[in-house]
Amino acid sequence: MIGKQYNQRKRKMKKLYCHCGGGKGKSLERHTLSEGLSAKACPECQAVVLLLEDYQEWRERHFSDSFAAVEPAAVPGQEKPSKAHVCPQCGCFMQRYRTGDAASFWLDYCPACHLFWLDAGEWALLEQSGLALYLDTLLTERWQHSIQSRKTLSWRDELLQKRFGEETLNEIRRIQSWLRPHPKKRDILAFLGENL
Ligand SMILES: [Zn+2]
Ligand SMILES: [Zn+2]
Repeated sequence: MIGKQYNQRKRKMKKLYCHCGGGKGKSLERHTLSEGLSAKACPECQAVVLLLEDYQEWRERHFSDSFAAVEPAAVPGQEKPSKAHVCPQCGCFMQRYRTGDAASFWLDYCPACHLFWLDAGEWALLEQSGLALYLDTLLTERWQHSIQSRKTLSWRDELLQKRFGEETLNEIRRIQSWLRPHPKKRDILAFLGENL
Protein backbone atom coordinates (compact mmCIF):
# COMPACT_ATOMS: atom_id res chain seq x y z
CA MET A 1 0.00 0.00 0.00
CA ILE A 2 2.76 2.37 0.95
CA GLY A 3 4.72 1.37 -2.13
CA LYS A 4 1.68 1.97 -4.29
CA GLN A 5 1.12 5.40 -2.83
CA TYR A 6 4.74 6.20 -3.41
CA ASN A 7 4.52 5.13 -7.05
CA GLN A 8 1.43 7.16 -7.64
CA ARG A 9 2.82 10.28 -6.04
CA LYS A 10 3.03 12.86 -8.76
CA ARG A 11 6.13 14.91 -9.25
CA LYS A 12 5.65 18.54 -8.45
CA MET A 13 7.73 21.52 -9.31
CA LYS A 14 9.23 23.35 -6.39
CA LYS A 15 9.56 27.10 -6.30
CA LEU A 16 11.86 27.77 -9.23
CA TYR A 17 14.05 30.66 -10.24
CA CYS A 18 15.54 31.90 -13.51
CA HIS A 19 18.96 33.48 -13.37
CA CYS A 20 18.76 35.34 -16.67
CA GLY A 21 19.37 38.74 -15.12
CA GLY A 22 22.02 37.53 -12.68
CA GLY A 23 21.60 38.02 -8.95
CA LYS A 24 19.40 35.75 -6.88
CA GLY A 25 17.06 35.09 -9.77
CA LYS A 26 13.55 35.81 -10.93
CA SER A 27 10.86 33.66 -9.46
CA LEU A 28 9.10 31.66 -12.16
CA GLU A 29 5.37 32.21 -12.43
CA ARG A 30 2.51 29.95 -13.42
CA HIS A 31 2.07 30.01 -17.15
CA THR A 32 -0.32 28.40 -19.62
CA LEU A 33 1.74 27.09 -22.50
CA SER A 34 -1.17 25.77 -24.49
CA GLU A 35 -4.80 25.16 -23.65
CA GLY A 36 -4.82 22.86 -20.62
CA LEU A 37 -1.03 22.74 -20.36
CA SER A 38 0.42 24.60 -17.44
CA ALA A 39 4.09 25.31 -16.97
CA LYS A 40 6.17 27.97 -15.28
CA ALA A 41 7.69 30.96 -17.00
CA CYS A 42 10.21 33.67 -16.24
CA PRO A 43 8.56 37.12 -16.37
CA GLU A 44 11.90 38.59 -17.46
CA CYS A 45 13.18 36.40 -20.34
CA GLN A 46 9.99 34.37 -21.03
CA ALA A 47 11.82 31.08 -20.64
CA VAL A 48 9.46 28.22 -19.85
CA VAL A 49 9.98 25.27 -17.55
CA LEU A 50 7.77 22.29 -18.23
CA LEU A 51 7.34 19.09 -16.24
CA LEU A 52 7.41 15.91 -18.35
CA GLU A 53 4.44 14.38 -16.53
CA ASP A 54 2.31 17.52 -16.98
CA TYR A 55 3.18 17.48 -20.65
CA GLN A 56 2.36 13.80 -21.14
CA GLU A 57 -0.90 14.16 -19.27
CA TRP A 58 -1.89 17.09 -21.45
CA ARG A 59 -1.05 15.22 -24.63
CA GLU A 60 -2.95 12.17 -23.44
CA ARG A 61 -6.02 14.27 -22.75
CA HIS A 62 -5.97 16.27 -25.97
CA PHE A 63 -4.35 14.12 -28.59
CA SER A 64 -4.65 10.57 -27.29
CA ASP A 65 -4.97 8.90 -30.66
CA SER A 66 -4.03 11.55 -33.15
CA PHE A 67 -0.30 11.18 -33.11
CA ALA A 68 1.81 8.66 -34.93
CA ALA A 69 5.54 8.15 -35.20
CA VAL A 70 7.41 11.01 -36.85
CA GLU A 71 10.83 11.23 -38.36
CA PRO A 72 13.26 14.02 -37.60
CA ALA A 73 12.67 16.87 -39.98
CA ALA A 74 13.95 20.34 -40.57
CA VAL A 75 12.82 22.42 -37.67
CA PRO A 76 12.66 26.16 -38.20
CA GLY A 77 14.80 28.23 -35.91
CA GLN A 78 18.35 29.28 -35.47
CA GLU A 79 21.44 27.68 -34.06
CA LYS A 80 21.66 28.78 -30.49
CA PRO A 81 25.03 29.57 -28.94
CA SER A 82 25.86 26.43 -27.04
CA LYS A 83 25.15 27.60 -23.56
CA ALA A 84 23.84 24.78 -21.43
CA HIS A 85 21.18 25.68 -18.90
CA VAL A 86 21.35 24.77 -15.27
CA CYS A 87 18.29 22.93 -14.03
CA PRO A 88 16.27 25.38 -11.96
CA GLN A 89 15.30 22.58 -9.59
CA CYS A 90 18.44 20.55 -8.84
CA GLY A 91 21.14 22.94 -10.05
CA CYS A 92 22.84 20.39 -12.35
CA PHE A 93 23.57 21.10 -15.98
CA MET A 94 20.66 20.11 -18.16
CA GLN A 95 21.19 17.73 -21.04
CA ARG A 96 20.81 19.04 -24.55
CA TYR A 97 18.93 17.29 -27.30
CA ARG A 98 18.81 18.24 -30.94
CA THR A 99 15.33 18.93 -32.23
CA GLY A 100 16.15 18.56 -35.92
CA ASP A 101 18.65 19.16 -38.66
CA ALA A 102 21.33 21.82 -38.89
CA ALA A 103 19.16 24.90 -38.56
CA SER A 104 17.30 23.81 -35.48
CA PHE A 105 17.71 24.45 -31.81
CA TRP A 106 18.55 22.36 -28.78
CA LEU A 107 16.03 21.18 -26.27
CA ASP A 108 17.25 21.29 -22.68
CA TYR A 109 16.04 18.62 -20.32
CA CYS A 110 16.95 17.44 -16.83
CA PRO A 111 16.48 13.66 -16.62
CA ALA A 112 16.63 13.73 -12.81
CA CYS A 113 13.83 16.27 -12.34
CA HIS A 114 11.94 15.51 -15.58
CA LEU A 115 12.02 19.20 -16.49
CA PHE A 116 12.19 20.75 -19.94
CA TRP A 117 13.67 24.19 -20.36
CA LEU A 118 12.35 26.15 -23.33
CA ASP A 119 13.79 29.53 -24.18
CA ALA A 120 11.41 32.25 -25.31
CA GLY A 121 9.80 31.30 -28.63
CA GLU A 122 10.95 27.68 -28.65
CA TRP A 123 7.52 26.24 -27.88
CA ALA A 124 6.12 28.18 -30.85
CA LEU A 125 8.84 26.70 -33.08
CA LEU A 126 8.03 23.22 -31.84
CA GLU A 127 4.36 23.82 -32.61
CA GLN A 128 5.15 25.14 -36.08
CA SER A 129 7.26 22.15 -36.94
CA GLY A 130 4.73 19.70 -35.55
CA LEU A 131 7.11 18.50 -32.87
CA ALA A 132 5.22 19.88 -29.89
CA LEU A 133 3.51 16.51 -29.49
CA TYR A 134 6.80 14.61 -29.51
CA LEU A 135 8.94 16.20 -26.83
CA ASP A 136 9.62 12.84 -25.20
CA THR A 137 10.41 11.23 -28.55
CA LEU A 138 13.07 13.89 -29.08
CA LEU A 139 14.83 12.60 -25.98
CA THR A 140 15.22 9.09 -27.33
CA GLU A 141 18.49 7.72 -28.58
CA ARG A 142 16.86 6.67 -31.81
CA TRP A 143 15.79 10.23 -32.62
CA GLN A 144 19.12 11.75 -31.69
CA HIS A 145 20.94 9.12 -33.70
CA SER A 146 18.76 9.63 -36.73
CA ILE A 147 19.42 13.38 -36.68
CA GLN A 148 23.12 12.71 -36.40
CA SER A 149 23.18 10.50 -39.48
CA ARG A 150 21.15 13.03 -41.46
CA LYS A 151 23.59 15.71 -40.40
CA THR A 152 26.51 13.63 -41.59
CA LEU A 153 24.72 13.19 -44.88
CA SER A 154 24.25 16.92 -45.38
CA TRP A 155 27.87 17.61 -44.44
CA ARG A 156 28.88 15.16 -47.13
CA ASP A 157 26.70 17.01 -49.62
CA GLU A 158 28.34 20.25 -48.67
CA LEU A 159 31.83 18.82 -49.15
CA LEU A 160 30.92 17.39 -52.55
CA GLN A 161 29.51 20.74 -53.63
CA LYS A 162 32.72 22.48 -52.63
CA ARG A 163 34.74 19.92 -54.50
CA PHE A 164 32.82 19.82 -57.78
CA GLY A 165 30.56 22.84 -57.85
CA GLU A 166 26.79 22.57 -58.02
CA GLU A 167 26.43 22.09 -61.76
CA THR A 168 28.96 19.27 -61.99
CA LEU A 169 27.56 17.61 -58.90
CA ASN A 170 24.07 17.60 -60.42
CA GLU A 171 25.45 16.04 -63.57
CA ILE A 172 27.28 13.37 -61.53
CA ARG A 173 24.04 12.59 -59.71
CA ARG A 174 22.14 12.34 -62.98
CA ILE A 175 24.68 9.87 -64.37
CA GLN A 176 24.67 7.95 -61.09
CA SER A 177 20.93 7.51 -61.12
CA TRP A 178 21.06 6.32 -64.72
CA LEU A 179 23.96 3.97 -64.04
CA ARG A 180 22.85 2.52 -60.70
CA PRO A 181 20.11 0.19 -62.01
CA HIS A 182 21.91 -0.52 -65.31
CA PRO A 183 22.64 -4.26 -65.83
CA LYS A 184 26.03 -3.50 -67.46
CA LYS A 185 27.04 -0.92 -64.87
CA ARG A 186 30.48 -2.51 -64.18
CA ASP A 187 31.34 -2.87 -67.86
CA ILE A 188 30.39 0.73 -68.53
CA LEU A 189 32.47 2.02 -65.62
CA ALA A 190 35.47 -0.04 -66.69
CA PHE A 191 35.11 1.18 -70.25
CA LEU A 192 34.93 4.79 -69.13
CA GLY A 193 37.96 4.34 -66.91
CA GLU A 194 40.00 2.92 -69.78
CA ASN A 195 38.90 5.36 -72.43
CA LEU A 196 38.96 8.76 -70.75
ZN1 LIG B 1 14.61 34.54 -17.09
ZN1 LIG C 1 17.18 18.84 -12.28
